[in-house]
Amino acid sequence: MIASAAATSSGLGAFGFIIIIALYFLPVIIAFSRKVTNVGSVLVINLFLGWTVIGWVVALAMAVKSKTPQVVVVTSSTPLPGCSKCGTALIPGQQYCSNCGTARSPVT
Ligand SMILES: [Zn+2]
Repeated sequence: MIASAAATSSGLGAFGFIIIIALYFLPVIIAFSRKVTNVGSVLVINLFLGWTVIGWVVALAMAVKSKTPQVVVVTSSTPLPGCSKCGTALIPGQQYCSNCGTARSPVT
């Protein structure tokens, strides 16, 4: 009874150790499974800074980062498409020029 309980607990201990290792390298596992481009960076940060919680979180964040970063703000850096006739800036989605009423040229 006692012997079997001890064996069970030691088995759980080994299993728990594997779980901890897997959790520690979770960012690398995610990075590999997602085939992200910066797997090497994730591995280095996970390996050397993973013991700090911040390093682990940074590695995880890099692992789950989308492969093609989406540009959220476009209008602030690039000029708005202008009207083909009068050149008035058109709001994205605006179909007709607010100045002269010309239908905007189709966005290619
Ligand atoms: Zn116009």
